[in-house]
Amino acid sequence: MPGRHFLQIPGPTNVPDRILRAMDRPVPDHRGPELPALVAEVVAGLRQVFQTARGEIVLFPASGTGAWEATIVNTLNPGDHVLAFNIGHFSHMFADVARRYGAQVDELDLPWDQGVPASLVGDRLAADKSHTYKAVLLVHNETSTGVTSDARAIREAIDATGHPALLLVDTVSSFGSIDFRFDDWGIDVALTGTQKGLMLPPGMAVLCVGPRALARAEQVTTPRYFFDWRPVIAEMQRGYFPYTPPTLMLYGLREAVRMLQEEGLPQVLARHLRLAEGVRRAVKAWGLQVLCKNPTEYSNTLTAVRMPEGTDSEAVLEAAETHFQLSLGTGLGRLRGRVFRIGHLGALNELEVLATVAGVEMALALAGVRVPMGAGVAACQKFLMESFLARITKG
Ligand code: PLP
Repeated sequence: MPGRHFLQIPGPTNVPDRILRAMDRPVPDHRGPELPALVAEVVAGLRQVFQTARGEIVLFPASGTGAWEATIVNTLNPGDHVLAFNIGHFSHMFADVARRYGAQVDELDLPWDQGVPASLVGDRLAADKSHTYKAVLLVHNETSTGVTSDARAIREAIDATGHPALLLVDTVSSFGSIDFRFDDWGIDVALTGTQKGLMLPPGMAVLCVGPRALARAEQVTTPRYFFDWRPVIAEMQRGYFPYTPPTLMLYGLREAVRMLQEEGLPQVLARHLRLAEGVRRAVKAWGLQVLCKNPTEYSNTLTAVRMPEGTDSEAVLEAAETHFQLSLGTGLGRLRGRVFRIGHLGALNELEVLATVAGVEMALALAGVRVPMGAGVAACQKFLMESFLARITKG
């Protein structure tokens, strides 16, 4: 089919030409003189996006799953008690990594259309008088449901109890797209991958590690080699790595942080909010429902849309892919067939969102869901136009 393919899954996201061009170069000597300046710029740029001055940046050739594993092996011993929340497919898997390494995970089963209530975290930790919990696991933006938990409120709830548990946060689908403040919110470890808000291909795991987690890693006896972050931090401070790094990805990463800096982080976050709201207006105009129950927890990087009774979201995905070159996110785990997910993160603008909404609308109709043709596009366009006009009037 002519024209471009629309990759509107909630990551991997579309890689801008500028990043592809930055990566299209000869492979450098990873022990050579080019590396230190490259690594320093990447680290400084990532620190800005994590909004941290005190966090150590750690890079591994891996994905979000590798970032989970790196976080767990460096902060937990077998037998350590961990508090986790099952609010979707990914939060359950994060807890599972800790369990596989022998942690005693209290994984609280919560509804899959809501975030983690800060009060629940506070209550659990307040009840843990002898401080057996060593860590709290949180997925900031649950990609399977399109729900963003209030990490700041959770931090405050932990602080109110005076509990010393580490707060380990998955920012895989929020980093560089939804506000996340490593220092202000007292995060101990934040982890992400390159393939979503960073607009790169999949391939690298990015961690930001705070002082308490660094200290914990010195006490932890869990066997680790590749994912031991200590030699990585030591080498990265010199501008190198203890393994052969994916050097071309580093050039792409440098370009990505430059792009985020040029647009400005507040503007990047505002763009994600705007585009997400445009999509939500479309869902409403179709007469369908966003899975996320609480509007204050709506995700600005993806929207999970509930299917009407008796219809199957897999049919929407198939129609979109086959007829319109549009990839949408499938329903994961227990949501299979019941929701589809529209990714609206990374390198994305108004017209691309409108085209996506138009494609979804046609795919829904082909999958037997009665939607008034054009209603979603019109609602989305109206909102995007109003917010554009508000911006230029203000500017
Ligand atoms: N955490 C979240 C929130 C995710 O969305 C994903 C993947 O989409 C992962 C972890 C796992 O990351 P990966 O698939 O890059 O290994």
